[in-house]
Amino acid sequence: MECIFCKIITGDIPSKLIYDRNEIIAFEDINPQAPTHLLIVPKKHFENAGEIAESNPETLGEMFRVAKELANGLPGYRTIFNTGAEAGQSVFHAHLHLLGGRAFGWPPG
Ligand code: 5GP
Ligand code: ZN
Repeated sequence: MECIFCKIITGDIPSKLIYDRNEIIAFEDINPQAPTHLLIVPKKHFENAGEIAESNPETLGEMFRVAKELANGLPGYRTIFNTGAEAGQSVFHAHLHLLGGRAFGWPPG
């Protein structure tokens, strides 16, 4: 098994775990881009958000519900799925970025 997030889920690679319930975990990004930068990750391996949507759409909804729960207290936050290397995806186990704690520009880089 080569997937780094699968190894975080099994505990073979340590992480700063923030949330672990049912089919979803969330942990701190190792290279944070904002004061709050969490990764919300399904325990089941999917390559990207589209794959979750096709086979487990309710998991996608639950990931956004977890984002709302974990963003509690932030005046605003950003949720991002990168899909494909061109869009900036570097880990091919689907994950929702939750960023907050600073102002964000638009359009994104
Ligand atoms: P992507 O570029 O695929 O959208 O996001 C992958 C994210 O995973 C990056 O923000 C990167 O910093 C984070 N990341 C990569 N390896 C690790 C790791 O071993 N532990 C944690 N906590 N985050 C990681
Ligand atoms: Zn995986």
